Formats: sequence, C-alpha cells, structure tokens
Amino acid sequence: MFVLDKHGTPLQPCTPARARKLLTKERAVVHHHTPFVIRLKDRTAADSETDGVEVGVDPGSKHTGIAVFTAQAGQRRGRYALQLDHRGATIRKKLEQRSAYRRGRRTRNLRYRAPRFLNRSRPDGWLAPSLRHRVDTTTSWVARLARWSPVRAVHVERVAFDTHALSAGKPLEGAEYQNGTLHGYEVREYLLAKFGRACVYCGATNVALNIDHVQPRSRGGGDRVSNLVLACVPCNERKSNRPVEEFAPKRAADILKRAKAPLRDAAAVNSTRWSLWQALDAVWPTHTASGGRTKWNRTRTALPKTHTLDALAVGKLDCITEAVRLVLVAGCTGRGTHARTRPDKHGFPRLRLPRHKQFFGYATGDLVRAVVPTGKKAGTHTGRVAVRATGSFNITTRHGTVQGINRKYVRLLQRADGYAYTTQPEGPSAAAR
Ligand SMILES: [Zn+2]
Repeated sequence: MFVLDKHGTPLQPCTPARARKLLTKERAVVHHHTPFVIRLKDRTAADSETDGVEVGVDPGSKHTGIAVFTAQAGQRRGRYALQLDHRGATIRKKLEQRSAYRRGRRTRNLRYRAPRFLNRSRPDGWLAPSLRHRVDTTTSWVARLARWSPVRAVHVERVAFDTHALSAGKPLEGAEYQNGTLHGYEVREYLLAKFGRACVYCGATNVALNIDHVQPRSRGGGDRVSNLVLACVPCNERKSNRPVEEFAPKRAADILKRAKAPLRDAAAVNSTRWSLWQALDAVWPTHTASGGRTKWNRTRTALPKTHTLDALAVGKLDCITEAVRLVLVAGCTGRGTHARTRPDKHGFPRLRLPRHKQFFGYATGDLVRAVVPTGKKAGTHTGRVAVRATGSFNITTRHGTVQGINRKYVRLLQRADGYAYTTQPEGPSAAAR
C-alpha cells in the first residue's frame, strides 16, 4: 500500500495490515481509492526514513507489467504489481472506421475531386496512435506511481537481445547454448529474431525449437553463433550429427548463407520500446535490459511467466525474495467519445447522443458502490458504472455486469480516470488470461 506524509510527499510503501491499523487508529486517511493510497495525519517526510523503491517495466503489445520493488544488494522484494491492459486494437479499429466514414462522405455522389496525395508529413519519431497510446499510458502510470512512492530508478526492457553481450561473450561451449547461462538466453533470443521463430529446415512455426549446429560439433563445427540455427524437434532429431549438406542437400547453401549472415542491431530494437525508454529516461534514472536477461532472471529464480513477474525480473539482479500476491489490473477504457451521433452501417447519422456526460452527478466510467436493500438485485455491487439519463445505471463488477440499478442506491468511490480496475491473484493462472 502506498503511503504519503501529511504534506503529500511519498513515504516507503507499507503492508495492507499496517495500513488497516493506521486507518482504524485514525492516524491516516484514505488519499486515493484505486490504487489504494493512504496519507498519514501526524508525520512528515523529515520524521521518517525512506530507502526508496524502484520500478520495473515489461512492455508488451497487449499487456504491460509494472512492478514496484525495493532493491538492496541485488535482492528484490516486490511491493506492488500492476498489469496494464492496452487498447491498441480498439484505437486502430476506431481510426479505420473514422477514415472509412470520411472517405465515404467525400466520394458519395459529389462532384469530381482531384486526388490529393503525398501532402502529409510526419515528425521524426512518429508512432501510430495505437502504439503512441502504449508509450503514453505506461509513462503516465510510472509517473502516478512516482507520485505515491519514492521512486529512485526505473528498469525497462528495451531490446529482445543484447548484441553487445553477444559479441563480448566467448563462443558458447557444450550445453551452454541450450539452457543455463545469461549468454545462452541472449543467444536464443538472437536466433529467434534472426530466423523468425521458424525451423530453418522445414519452416515450421509455433513449435518447440531447438538450437542446432549447422556443422555438427563431431565434424568440427564450432559453437560460434554463425554455426547455430533453429530446428524443430523432429528435424533436429532426424538431422542428428549429420552435416547440413547431407541432411538437406538442395537447401544447404541457402541455410549456410543465412547462418553466416549476422543480424543487424536494428532487428533487436522495437520502435515502441525505444520511445518508451526515451520517455522514461527523460524523467527518471532509467536502466535498460534485454528480453533474454529477463527470461534468464525469471527462470533461475523459478518464477512463473506473468507480465508483472517479468516486470519484477527486468534488469540486473541476484535474487527475488518476495513477490506480491494480488495484482491490480488496469484496463485502458478511454474517456468516452466526442461523437455527437452514432452512425448506421452506411455512415449516416442514426441517433443523437446526449450533449453531456454526467447524469445525477455520475459519469460513465466512475468507480461506484451500490447497496441495494431489496429486490432481485439486492446486495452490494462495486465497480465501473455506465450511466443513463433515466437514472437506471449498469455496474460492471468483477463478477459481471448488473443492469438497471437505481441511481439513489449508488455512491461514488472515485471519478473516472480512463481505466477499469480489477484484481487478480499473482501466478500462473493470471498468465493464462
Ligand atoms: Zn523442422
């Protein structure tokens, strides 16, 4: 739980039990509902010691994991975990829809209009809106966390593999390339990027891939990266210790050429991750890491694969001694629409939307609690509200949507901030979602 002093300066985060105690003793007040932040009434930052926390970010295309942890002598203790669910696909769909409507209106039974083209320019570092959204929401969440906890440093995954570590390392020896060392993980990520996650012999994708020596070690082939390719398990077994010329005579020259050609650094770089790093680095001291290192950290600390545990395992560390049990999931919902009408499937106006967002003091997206005393919907419902002009609201709780709740039973917990919140337990079950 995040803690602020009486002036709103962030202090070291505390356990939920301690926060509960402080609240019952009335030494603290609730400062923010979700994420939960308390503010001490009787203490200033000068009275207490803050060691500071660090933030790990594992950027993904659909989900981004963010972990707040304390780091001492290479030991990390998870303090807070947040999973950000992006809405890139929604943004892309909406923009495509908008451009289709506009194109439709332009061309619909009107005079001829000469095409105008090549009259658009984009600034350097431009990202598509769906990708820009990923950078912006992640940066803004790190900024929010830094408002509520004393963030000293940020760790972010920037590349899939570290080319520098690859060239600096000696050639891999023995079983090193299959598992175990950091170098092995970096090489694996490098090969996955180089061969497009496909078997070089049969082209199979979405299968388990082994690292294969093009020229087998028994025939004098070395452990250098230029002698390594990816092969699916059946191909790998059938090839056994034969040289490539014997196993696939027709394609041998091509495969050897591909193995020899080095992968340019650019292949390790993803423009969205790069912009994210630049945005974070402008504000906080930011350390970068590779995906290979995160995997290596996660495997050797025996953690299951989730977005938030990956975030906890980003960068240089010795061990992870503690992880949080409950993850806050913040789904990006947007803040409503500017549209003044809804179109039908041909793009013609179908109905007029209300001119204001609030009804009876509530707006769609607000976090509310409704206590319904009697009837079919009796009970307490906490979640995101969708408002109607009639005063009959819908509330989306963690168990599903409850329809037609009368507004007089509803109480506001927190104003809409563009996210829908749920919680999920940390662990492998969370990864499946
Ligand atoms: Zn194969």
